[in-house]
Amino acid sequence: MEALYQKDCYLKESQATVVSVKDDKFIVLDQNLFYPNSGGQPHDTGLLIKDDQEFPVVYTGRFGGVISHEVAMPGLVKGDRVKAVIDWDRRYLFMKYHTACHILSAIIHNETGAQISGNQLGEEKTRVDFSLENFDREQIQSYEAKVNGIIDKGLPVSIEILPRDVAFQIPSVVKLKDAFPPDIEEIRVITISGVDRQACGGTHVANTGEIPHIEIFKAENKGKNNRRVYFRFRDD
Ligand SMILES: [Zn+2]
Repeated sequence: MEALYQKDCYLKESQATVVSVKDDKFIVLDQNLFYPNSGGQPHDTGLLIKDDQEFPVVYTGRFGGVISHEVAMPGLVKGDRVKAVIDWDRRYLFMKYHTACHILSAIIHNETGAQISGNQLGEEKTRVDFSLENFDREQIQSYEAKVNGIIDKGLPVSIEILPRDVAFQIPSVVKLKDAFPPDIEEIRVITISGVDRQACGGTHVANTGEIPHIEIFKAENKGKNNRRVYFRFRDD
């Protein structure tokens, strides 16, 4: 079962064969174009098309290592050949938000040494959580211009799928070694040239210049050492 989005985040369509159907609506395919809800990045939506019949995909998730597509209409059966098409506007928005999230996280970490504890992408806004004793609104606000400066530089973003032992020679990746079960043989590493290098399964743009300028519009104090910062894209 191949995950096409892992190698090419810009792939919008693919052919696939239905491997199984459960309850008339949970579809497993032999090739996976749709990103499953995970790692703070929401799932793709789109269509599975059989001949001239369109089956809207309303949810994509990973269950027991298998990616399942929930369709809004019954009718697909095992062995059907389908064309899979993702809602590109939604996917591309999350690619831009996800890469912006890596840039902001790198800046927070570099400036303060804080560990990033989580992130959640949304259609309207995205948040990054980090742990830091100090809570300084002005300092947090200053990250906005720094992120936008990196966006303006138009830096390349690359995806590598590396053998585990090679990936763990990268200092920023080995720090999270414990997060990877021992049976994972390959690790996907996202590099924003000169800014950030980390293991990540999400979808990303190929160049920071594709990302709109961000606006940090809220910073929250979530109790002892827990900080949360929200950003969204500006219209300019
Ligand atoms: Zn990521």
